[in-house]
Amino acid sequence: MTNLTKMSESGRVPAPHEPGADHDPAFTRRVPTGDNLPRDICDRCGFIHYVNPKVVVGSVVTFEGRILMCRRAIEPRKGFWTLPAGFMEQGETAEQGARREAREEANAEIVLQDLLAVYSIPRIAQVQLMYRATLSTPSFSAGEESLEVALFTWDEIPWEELAFPSVHWALTQFRSVEGQIAIAPFTNPDGETGNQFPPPR
Ligand SMILES: [Zn+2]
Repeated sequence: MTNLTKMSESGRVPAPHEPGADHDPAFTRRVPTGDNLPRDICDRCGFIHYVNPKVVVGSVVTFEGRILMCRRAIEPRKGFWTLPAGFMEQGETAEQGARREAREEANAEIVLQDLLAVYSIPRIAQVQLMYRATLSTPSFSAGEESLEVALFTWDEIPWEELAFPSVHWALTQFRSVEGQIAIAPFTNPDGETGNQFPPPR
């Protein structure tokens, strides 16, 4: 049976090993020929299940000098404060993803300015792209993934209740170039891999 006969009503052909594909997988973990890391490989068809880092896109969003932050309604780190950010979806650009996340988490329409930082977080296999952005109007509210959304001045930021180390990085790096028009994107702070929070301010 070919995949064509399994085509769904949407016209989309199931990828190998997703429900509706033409055989049950039977995976063995080994190093594929020409590769150097073990992968799960299907004994029946040779399909290699590559697992690669995911891309997170997000923004430091400002309005009149204040920074938009969201208190998480979901795990991990439920109840802690974060920046609007989340996993990229198939079929969108990084910029579209960043705008979508602001819409979903904060019901906010944002205008992206430039790329603030690219972080690598090996522990959780993520690459995070963080943009600088502005709110076109001070219109926002808690989306489904947020308990509350608020604008903070620098001194009001809840530093002890930040959700992730990279939120701390993005905020402090944003602050260090605030007002500058042309910037080179930051990366992880020296020696930081996202395993721990910076020391208290
Ligand atoms: Zn297979």
